[in-house]
Amino acid sequence: MTVEEPAQQRVPAPESTPDEILVAGEWRRGNGAPIETVDPATGRTLTTLAGAAATDVDEAARHAARAAADPVWRELPAHRRARLLHRIADAVDAEGERLAALQTADTGKALTETRALVASAAATFRYTAAAVETAEEALTPARGDYLTMSRYEPIGVVGAINPWNSPVASDAQKLAPALAAGNAVLLKPAEWTPLGSLALGRLITRALTELRLPTGLLSVLPGPGRTVGDAIVHHPRVGKVTFTGGTRTGRAIAHAAAEKLMPVSLELGGKSPTVVLPDADLEQALAGVLFGIFSSTGQSCIAGSRLFVARERYPEFLGALVDRAQKLRIGPGGDPGTQVAPLVHHKHRDSVACYVDLARAEGARVLCGGSAPDGDAYRDGAYYLPTVLDGLPNSSRTCQEEIFGPVLVALPFDDEDDLIRQANDSVYGLACGIWTRDHRAAWRIARRIDAGTVWINTYKQFSVSTPFGGMKDSGLGREKGRDGIRAYQRQKSLYWGVSDAPLPWAN
Ligand code: NAD
Repeated sequence: MTVEEPAQQRVPAPESTPDEILVAGEWRRGNGAPIETVDPATGRTLTTLAGAAATDVDEAARHAARAAADPVWRELPAHRRARLLHRIADAVDAEGERLAALQTADTGKALTETRALVASAAATFRYTAAAVETAEEALTPARGDYLTMSRYEPIGVVGAINPWNSPVASDAQKLAPALAAGNAVLLKPAEWTPLGSLALGRLITRALTELRLPTGLLSVLPGPGRTVGDAIVHHPRVGKVTFTGGTRTGRAIAHAAAEKLMPVSLELGGKSPTVVLPDADLEQALAGVLFGIFSSTGQSCIAGSRLFVARERYPEFLGALVDRAQKLRIGPGGDPGTQVAPLVHHKHRDSVACYVDLARAEGARVLCGGSAPDGDAYRDGAYYLPTVLDGLPNSSRTCQEEIFGPVLVALPFDDEDDLIRQANDSVYGLACGIWTRDHRAAWRIARRIDAGTVWINTYKQFSVSTPFGGMKDSGLGREKGRDGIRAYQRQKSLYWGVSDAPLPWAN
């Protein structure tokens, strides 16, 4: 990447208004269409933002390229980049309650979940700070009179595009390693949920200013995927895109990346099997299966949305499961007792309802749920009842397509081979849960399942130190773990002659 102009520190206005976006360190109204953010628990408008346009992306990308090339940032040693990440983590912790409440209002998620997501964002910045400070480069074994070493350098400008389901945490998962690796970032949140990402952008910009680093290193550009997202992906200054979202969008981005010969990381959709073996602990499996599908109201890429139960336990397990699903507490995310909060948006609730209609048309039995809840308390919110379906073959659309809502489809299996055949008969390969006391069976199944993550007698546990990503149509590449930073760097080999002897042609 060639950059001629010197980096300029853009000082953010001391007071910015809530309708502004972040373009290379500057808070201002975007040139794009207005974005109305709605509280899905009430239908009330929270904010109307002046969203980004392709022209804002271009300006942000040019400033980002300058900031990334600025020696103040580019030559900053890893332990000082770590200092920035620690400062961001401290700010996220200090503002934790506010960030969680904002995310609950914007996404509808229960406060217990958004608090955990914000804590996980702070932990991601801290872990990545430690990882970058201790990351080692290799002096490779010399095979002649020269030293050989392998180094990692920043890519330059990274485009980070996220969906609406867990904004602040998924932003941290991309921003922390991208900044740690020495890049500048253009972050595009989803249209429905920009507020958490903008709030995080304020904290990061403040930390950059305090440490006298170029504020052009970060832009937060809310706007439609087909204009703003597309402009980021195609911008010549953007050297890598890291994307989380649907498989169809991910595939389109991969095509664009192929044209530019640009690296891309894709965290995509799922239809994850959760498996109850004949010897499973009933109580543990029931709680785990319910949590696996109905937490986050099913709006989770790793939701355990296909349930496979050993045929001999099927009637007993399904009966108990339906009984408990009907007792889950449904309510607004801000209520501490809520287990199943509203969906992110009324339009998304309608799409989930259409899927349940499709299931009925395919011949499913609706064992519970299958509609919005009754009652005045639920009238204005984007609520949908926890729904359990069965009676469909694994080949049905209901069993194959990602619904991304509180909808579980149950299937019996006869033996381990039948289970593996059905569970792997999916375009997706994101996650899997296994409930059993038989450690040998768990080990065998875990290795035979096509999934990037397998949980045994637990589900949806997450650790930033453990790599995460999908197989098959669920994605390309891995996030998290010590090597997560490497996905945002370019590897370079150095050969360093140490002999006084001339090369052969000197003769
Ligand atoms: P989506 O693919 O519609 O949108 C994701 C993001 O991409 C949004 O910011 C959107 O504006 C943007 N976008 C849309 N079209 C684009 C284009 N042509 N070019 C560039 N950007 C574009 O997904 P969604 O509905 O927001 O999110 C739900 C999906 O995300 C589900 O499929 C879910 O499984 C997936 N997801 C995956 C993970 C994971 O880690 N594997 C995590 C969370 C969500």
